[in-house]
Amino acid sequence: MDFPLMRLAACVLAMATVCCRQPATPTPATPPGGPAKRLVVVTHTTGFRHDSIATAEAVITRLATESALFAPVFCRTAADVARLLTPSGLAETDGVFFVNTTGNLGIADLPAFLAWIGQGRAFLGAHSASDTYHDAPEYLAMLGAEFDTHGDQTTVDIRVEDTAHPAGAPLPSPWRIFDEIYEFRANPRARVNVLLSLDRHPNDGHAAAGQPGDFPLAWYRTHGNGRVFYTALGHRDEVWNDTRFQQHLLGALRWALGAP
Ligand SMILES: [Zn+2]
Repeated sequence: MDFPLMRLAACVLAMATVCCRQPATPTPATPPGGPAKRLVVVTHTTGFRHDSIATAEAVITRLATESALFAPVFCRTAADVARLLTPSGLAETDGVFFVNTTGNLGIADLPAFLAWIGQGRAFLGAHSASDTYHDAPEYLAMLGAEFDTHGDQTTVDIRVEDTAHPAGAPLPSPWRIFDEIYEFRANPRARVNVLLSLDRHPNDGHAAAGQPGDFPLAWYRTHGNGRVFYTALGHRDEVWNDTRFQQHLLGALRWALGAP
């Protein structure tokens, strides 16, 4: 073997040694906000059931994947409620999202569930989350308002009152959208921090249509050390598929789950 060949062999060996000193597998990237938060997404209903629930579940699943912010655990049936919405079922859980729930969901110990939120967890509600537990004033007080009525689906120009909050920041103001617009038994403004509102009654066929007024549609509040968010929107599939609504929700989830 002549010297040039030996030098080449030595060089190849040296390069191989350098290569082999590098880690065999790269360290997995950690999401910016740390490990994904565990979010129980409740779509069980004991009253009216919205057709949009299937779309809502698909959208939430996609948002979870794309954001890496949270990992959803779906709670769809009475059996799921009995298994998941208990002190032991909620262990290691960071928040709960009531998505178009209706009626009394059958949580075995509702005071314990509300106390769990108050211990620093997240509660989010969409649309008929306010048409849920009409028989439980303590739930409605935690949420901020109780659904009363709605008229025909209609186009509204929503005021974004808080453009600094993550649930309001992504939205145009006014935000024009077509949906079923809720009215509540009492104006929640004194008890909540309003994010979205109408300055006139929706044009929904009711006698008050178009009359000036104050109609909050989304808000946030604290419940003890817990963070509560509610949006009245979300009746229609088209709303769940609207990227502006999805950004509204994602901002709310980021805030409520305490993610950066
Ligand atoms: Zn509805």
